[in-house]
Amino acid sequence: LLDGRGVPAPTIFARMSELAARTGAINLGQGFPDSDGPAVVLEAAIEAIRGGANQYPPGRGIAPLRRAIADHQRHWYGLDPDPDTEVLVTAGATEALTASIIALTEPGDEVVVLEPIYDSYSAAIEMAAAVRRTVRLEWPEYRLEPDRLAAAVTDRTRLILLNTPHNPTGRVLSADELETVAAVARERDLIVIADEVYEHLTFAPHRHVPIATLPGMADRTVTISSAGKTFSVTGWKIGWLHARPELVDAITAVKQFLTYVNGSPFQPAVATGLALPDEVLTEIGADLGRRSALLTEGLAAAGFGVRASEATYFVIADAAPLGYSDGAALCDDLPRLAGVVGVPVQAFAEDPSRPSSLVRFACCKRPEVIAEAADRLAHMR
Ligand code: PMP
Ligand code: GLN
Repeated sequence: LLDGRGVPAPTIFARMSELAARTGAINLGQGFPDSDGPAVVLEAAIEAIRGGANQYPPGRGIAPLRRAIADHQRHWYGLDPDPDTEVLVTAGATEALTASIIALTEPGDEVVVLEPIYDSYSAAIEMAAAVRRTVRLEWPEYRLEPDRLAAAVTDRTRLILLNTPHNPTGRVLSADELETVAAVARERDLIVIADEVYEHLTFAPHRHVPIATLPGMADRTVTISSAGKTFSVTGWKIGWLHARPELVDAITAVKQFLTYVNGSPFQPAVATGLALPDEVLTEIGADLGRRSALLTEGLAAAGFGVRASEATYFVIADAAPLGYSDGAALCDDLPRLAGVVGVPVQAFAEDPSRPSSLVRFACCKRPEVIAEAADRLAHMR
């Protein structure tokens, strides 16, 4: 958590956003949209502030939001969490993840994660004094190999931390990959923490399936999501989780001393968003899919090796065909070379010092911004 001099190392996302701000480059690094989400959701927050929702809300989240989360899970996936005992509102998915990992491990317990690994997973595992066991997904297919998963599980394993749709690979895990994870969890009596923040940001024909819907999994899964991605409000930091009551109680015990409660005016607004008609949420994914395709095309035209994403804000591109073997060095230099910022995929590795020629670019930007970035990359000096 600290760098060599004992000071907090900024996250790769903060570092790359700072680089973009300092150089004036187009920021396709940190994943945040450059336009607002549904106006009704924004208006609902403004109304809530005007209506006086400005003091501490209940610790587990306001009842209408917990009900909206439960209704959303039932409507979209046939899951049926009890809003009073099985749902917890959190400060984004980040707090849901951290509180879950701290609550559900003892020091020395092992947590299995997929590599590429989202940065907060490793930090939370370290804060819990737990031990990370990595299962690597390999470019360009990024498929979960059952043997590798089996090899990562030991008698000390408590949790499998799953992320689908997956950042940064843009993969939606297939039914057989989900079943592989579920089978291991059932056999070895493990809890799965399922980070599903990109659940609605999938591109047809790909669809998100929560692992909690698989046989025997509802009772052993903590399902996590967040309003940030679906409604383009990453700064609101309203997330949630659902799980069986004993797990939610344990996680709540930790959560109440991390943030206590979260964003009272944003909670009713997110409840409004979750109840929007299906077409609205589907179109949010479809619209992002068009941007992802535009970015993929642009990166390919610029000479990168590209893998089309199935979901998420992100596209991974290989700079090796352009003669760059070190993606981290390239990303540091990209503002000067092209006036664009990306994130080196090696930052998501178990060993971030292992060089990789892969770069993650964000597609959650206006089409004209994506087109301009692609044009700049095509004319890279
Ligand atoms: N998990 C993944 C995979 C993410 O990409 C992100 C952020 N983009 C988060 C969790 C954190 O979500 P939040 O901003 O809601 O804390
Ligand atoms: N999750 C976003 C990304 O992957 C960034 C969030 C953050 O900066 N922590 O880019």
